[in-house]
Amino acid sequence: MKCAICRNGTTTDGYSTTVLERDRVTVVFKKVPVQICNNCGEEYVSAEVNESLLSQAHAEWERGITLEMLDFAA
Ligand SMILES: [Zn+2]
Repeated sequence: MKCAICRNGTTTDGYSTTVLERDRVTVVFKKVPVQICNNCGEEYVSAEVNESLLSQAHAEWERGITLEMLDFAA
């Protein structure tokens, strides 16, 4: 798709690291599938991936840990 930020680049499939924080709890997700702009580097996360990230993060928050690093699970 065309990049909405710079309007010059197009996005391609890639992987990113996403950090989600709530209160004192930080969850780091690696290997998150994203679309990356080949011009400005903006990263786009799909609604499905975002939803999955939130539900996985929620499970970690419930455990009461302070820092967790996970590989994204689709
Ligand atoms: Zn761009």
